[in-house]
Amino acid sequence: MSDPVLEVRGLTKRYGAVEALKGFDLTVGRGSIYGFIGPNGAGKTTTIRIVAGLVRPTSGEVRLHGVDLRRNRLAAARGLRTLVEVPAFYPGLSGRQNLTIFARLSGADDADVKRLLARVRLEHAQDRRVGGYSLGMRQRLGIAQALLGRPDLVVLDEPMNGLDPAGMHEMRELIREENRERGVTFFLSSHLLDDIQRLCDRIGILHKGRLVAEGRIDDLLSSAVTGFRLRCERPPDALAALARALPEAKARLDGDGTIHADGDTAVLPRLHHALLAAGHPVVELYPVRASLEAYFLDLTEGVMG
Ligand code: ATP
Repeated sequence: MSDPVLEVRGLTKRYGAVEALKGFDLTVGRGSIYGFIGPNGAGKTTTIRIVAGLVRPTSGEVRLHGVDLRRNRLAAARGLRTLVEVPAFYPGLSGRQNLTIFARLSGADDADVKRLLARVRLEHAQDRRVGGYSLGMRQRLGIAQALLGRPDLVVLDEPMNGLDPAGMHEMRELIREENRERGVTFFLSSHLLDDIQRLCDRIGILHKGRLVAEGRIDDLLSSAVTGFRLRCERPPDALAALARALPEAKARLDGDGTIHADGDTAVLPRLHHALLAAGHPVVELYPVRASLEAYFLDLTEGVMG
């Protein structure tokens, strides 16, 4: 990767007898939206807390813009914003006052505060005490805080937590736009695989403290072909021929007249051959890929820690 913003190398973390992180590498390139997923207890929050400087790793290295976090924390963390759990605010102050305080600390100006309050749809509530905000409102204020002052890398732990469906939609839009328009790189954990699939260009799957898959979602899923949809003339005859020649493909007819056959890419030449030999050339063909959810479940249930 030409310009990594975050690099993790051989990261381990022990809590007494619990080995939360077992030594893994991970790279987040500048300009990407990276989804960090894994089942409960996989070690996502531990990783994020280490990157945020809240927890010390047992061993391994975290580099931000090439700078070692342990050696030079201040320089490494420049341009880094993290939002871990529900952020702490001054409950007696308004949303705008809270953001203004953080803006002073991060070198942002009042225009940025105004822009972000509007961006997270808290304009109407900006002068109310944060103590009276709902969980979702505090979460949105937290995102606004994380985006103050043009950060390079924003690390979000479960950013959709506490948001209603409209709030989740707005959050996705916000992340997309800040990424596209302002070049902000995002590293976010989530249990919502649909969201990850819609939002992220790269993912890492953590399972029992190890990274079991990493890469572009398209590339990962392209290796996860589970079958094919084929179109032939005279589908019932073609189906019967295929069932005779290749019973293991469990061929069946779909409602749209295509034949659905199970199998990965290794089966494809045999499918073609069986149909052609029976006088049914394939006129259209579409691979059927596993969803991210199926891919995720397959990996995380099949790998023992
Ligand atoms: P979830 O999806 O449930 O939030 P996670 O992937 O974020 O899970 P972590 O919270 O990082 O997982 O936990 C990884 C492992 O480390 C778990 O076994 C957890 O019990 C353990 N762990 C985390 N924090 C501590 C701690 N402070 N003390 C002891 N064990 C801990």
